[in-house]
Amino acid sequence: MRFVNEYRDRDQAKRLREAIAAADQSAVLMEVCGGQTHTIMRYGIDQMLPDAVTMIHGPGCPVCVTSVKLIDQALAIAARPEVIFTSFGDMLRVPGTELDLFTVKARGGDVRIVYSPLDAVALARDNPDRQVVFFGVGFETTAPANAMAVWQAAQQGLGNFSILAAHVLVPPAMEAILSSPDCRVQGFLAAGHVCTIMGYWQYEPIAERYKVPIVVTGFEPNDLLQGIHMAVEALKEGRHGVFNQYARSVRREGNKPAQDLVAQVFEAQDQGWRGIGTIPMSGLRLSEQYASFDAVDRFDVGGIVSKEAAACRAGEVLQGHIRPMECEAFGKECTPDMPLGAPMVSSEGACSAYYRYRRET
Ligand code: SF4
Repeated sequence: MRFVNEYRDRDQAKRLREAIAAADQSAVLMEVCGGQTHTIMRYGIDQMLPDAVTMIHGPGCPVCVTSVKLIDQALAIAARPEVIFTSFGDMLRVPGTELDLFTVKARGGDVRIVYSPLDAVALARDNPDRQVVFFGVGFETTAPANAMAVWQAAQQGLGNFSILAAHVLVPPAMEAILSSPDCRVQGFLAAGHVCTIMGYWQYEPIAERYKVPIVVTGFEPNDLLQGIHMAVEALKEGRHGVFNQYARSVRREGNKPAQDLVAQVFEAQDQGWRGIGTIPMSGLRLSEQYASFDAVDRFDVGGIVSKEAAACRAGEVLQGHIRPMECEAFGKECTPDMPLGAPMVSSEGACSAYYRYRRET
């Protein structure tokens, strides 16, 4: 598929669906990315598939997996009078232990939505007597831009810029899922945009170790159907390895300059995932060279103790153990207007996808 109209073409979708059915192969597949989850729900792809093929929704919504402790740290920093706290819009309604960023803003905190971390660097340059903090949330996809922001701030000598780094990494999360004793996943659809940056060489040892197919897949409906078909065929033929459905964007080696910049500014660390727990070496913190830009240290918020909402079963949703409507709060105490957990807030969250597209089931 190369052109825009092919990605949603009904006849092509029908052919792909028939090819999946013709393979006559049972498969439990996990799509990693929340954007893929939304496409699956929006276009009813899971309902088009044969009964033998099950899609499990993975933990690939960065807003959803940002730990409640990081949210509480953001809230504490944003409430300080000297701070301009900047963030992508998705994060403002994610609940911390008690509040969210919108509430802090309503109470007088200077919380601003930006569209790029470089906007936050410009704000720091234009407001030398304020502290400007950027909430750097995301998978590998957003890490290069955040690394560039820190690098630029360093180049410009901006002592009033810092970043609250909340990056998570896909390969360690995949390994954590595959090594879980109750893992049902037989293959993955990996996120095409992450692989555009990072390539897919990092997935090859995982596919080899766990003998699974990992198909790098795009985000349009026919991308997903083609990715599912490739995974099902691989399972049928007993093949494991990494396969690239999203070849129009992804190369094995990825974007090397972007990877080099991320490696210069950040380093891997153990990371807490909301609702899931700590996954070894699955996050990024600032490297020693750039540690002075770390907002946690600058505002001394490392000791904050946080608590999840008791009713929220986001961890089970994010690991594919339950579907969102199996959570007792779904559509009752928890809705997009009054979310209890992050998966109901984010545009990529599984609970919000089910609420928008599949509320009746
Ligand atoms: S429906 Fe709401 S409370 Fe339930 S898991 Fe999803 S976000 Fe949490």
